[in-house]
Amino acid sequence: MNGIILIVEDEVKLATILADYLNQAGFETYSLGDGLAVVPWVRQHQPQLILLDLMLPGISGLDICREIRSFSVVPIIMTTARVEEIDRLLGLELGADDYICKPFSPREVVARVKAVLRRGADSGSDYLTGLVLDELRYRATLNGHDIDLTAVEFKLLNLMAANPGRIYGRQQLMDHIYPDQRIVSDRTIDSHIKKLRKKLTAVSSEEEFIRSLYGVGYKFEPR
Ligand code: CA
Repeated sequence: MNGIILIVEDEVKLATILADYLNQAGFETYSLGDGLAVVPWVRQHQPQLILLDLMLPGISGLDICREIRSFSVVPIIMTTARVEEIDRLLGLELGADDYICKPFSPREVVARVKAVLRRGADSGSDYLTGLVLDELRYRATLNGHDIDLTAVEFKLLNLMAANPGRIYGRQQLMDHIYPDQRIVSDRTIDSHIKKLRKKLTAVSSEEEFIRSLYGVGYKFEPR
């Protein structure tokens, strides 16, 4: 998998050097100097990783990072000219994956980019599926698009997506969504899953997320 690396940097010279090094390392890059253009671009192109400058004219890298995190888990590496900023940034828990202090060597940036991507590849399928689940708000987004799920559908998806590949029996799923042991038939689960699949397919028709295993149950396995 080799997507585009988005370089957000208002210093043109620096952006060019970064692009050159990343290109030499085999990455495709796109550079944006205008902070306000970042979020719309990310929504549209779903880059593989973002190098995000903290100090941008007009908008702060912090605000951009926060906004991106509301709909995407794309890896973000923040770059800042101030070492003392990094501690503060870590405390803010913005969801950036790494921080690099300027001045940096472009070689170091390439190494960090590779490290963050490797980490992402090891830690599951989130980056590949583009599925983001916000448990606090019962909100699901797929490839940047909101999916309007009922509470039951969200719970089912959230449970299965936490363990891709694991098979869940109907009884297990029922216990999860109706912990009060309310009597519901097997068909209730089937019908919830059916609606859930339909909503996912409406956003991403070429991907299949939930597989049914005849007589056994269901599993989340994006392909
Ligand atoms: Ca800057």
